[in-house]
Amino acid sequence: MGEILCLNAGSSSLKFALFRADAGGEPTPLAAGKIENIGLAPHLIVRDAGGGAITEQRWTKDDKATHETLLEDLLGRIETSVGEDLVGVGHRVVHGGPDRFAPARVDDALLAELDGLCPLAPLHQPHNLAAVRAVARLRPALPQIACFDTGFHHGQPAVATRLALPRALTTEGVRRYGFHGISYEYIARRLRELDGPATGGRTIAAHLGNGASLCAMDKGRSIDTTMGFTALDGLVMGTRCGTLDPGAVLYLFQEKGMTPEQVEHLLYNESGLLGVSGISSDMRALLASDDERAGEAIDLFVWQIARQTGALAASLGGLDSFVFTAGIGENAPEVRARVAARLGWLGVEIDEEANRRGEPVISTTSSRIVVRLIPTDEERMIAIHTADLLREETKP
Ligand code: AMP
Repeated sequence: MGEILCLNAGSSSLKFALFRADAGGEPTPLAAGKIENIGLAPHLIVRDAGGGAITEQRWTKDDKATHETLLEDLLGRIETSVGEDLVGVGHRVVHGGPDRFAPARVDDALLAELDGLCPLAPLHQPHNLAAVRAVARLRPALPQIACFDTGFHHGQPAVATRLALPRALTTEGVRRYGFHGISYEYIARRLRELDGPATGGRTIAAHLGNGASLCAMDKGRSIDTTMGFTALDGLVMGTRCGTLDPGAVLYLFQEKGMTPEQVEHLLYNESGLLGVSGISSDMRALLASDDERAGEAIDLFVWQIARQTGALAASLGGLDSFVFTAGIGENAPEVRARVAARLGWLGVEIDEEANRRGEPVISTTSSRIVVRLIPTDEERMIAIHTADLLREETKP
């Protein structure tokens, strides 16, 4: 069939992965990389499927590289290496709203619909859509597929999606959606491979990265999650506050005289691990610090994971397995051990050595809950959807 490019575009970064898709089966990874620091001094690094660096380039501020010129550069590099074989681009689009859950071919009407959801995900949606538009300008004939981070949570029981606000607001879409769905869909897929039809039974997956959330899955289907109307809700994150008494927001407006823009910036960019520690949003830096405030930020991070795991275990009516994934979940044994210790009452028992080594199963054989470590792969999930949709379209 050809190559598929997966894009995950942020405000100052562009993550990408290139896959080869054949007539059937899962696409195979060829290369992956990212451009960071866009707007200042962009830095491109590309690695092959084995993780070895194959290309690196830096631009200076004087090069005036924009998202679009960098994307053009990237497409050029890919076409030089794979020739005419690039058959489609799959995008991570954070919000699909109430009606869009299945991956979809992008056209003008869909773009306009997705534009309307920018206020619900101001940190991500505008940048996701800007990348779609840039590709459309640069390569108008190339099919583009949008994969929605909200999509996996479609089908949750209505009660899990409702906010206790006047009904008219719910009707206009002010409800819980949930995010990190592409990651959770991948985890559910891996659980199916590892555990067969039981797919981990009643599972809580913990996506702990810069953004962090939990998803309660019953045999691989999302039934509840900690992020809600926006990606601000739920766990303590790198710079986002997580669950917050709305009264605190009123206080910021009424007593502190802050504008909506200032409050938005505070909640999305200045809170979470960064806000509590006053040091960093980066878990590595906090773990390495002996500053008391770094310890307090980690304590709160762990406390909220355990607290909200309790809530989701209640939504599931019990728990059979727990999965750690994403930057912190995959790489920070200390955080995993501390979370597991707080979940002892649920029957979680960690094998210290397996945890330290980062093995696929880190619970003891006598643990009532199987605790797994599954590296997430959102790009692969996007490639799978993109290949499936393109195959469907070209079916005779
Ligand atoms: P992500 O958003 O999934 O890329 O995750 C980013 C988070 O993972 C940051 O807070 C990093 O500090 C954290 N992280 C990555 N590697 C490690 C590590 N080896 N130990 C602790 N935290 C890590």
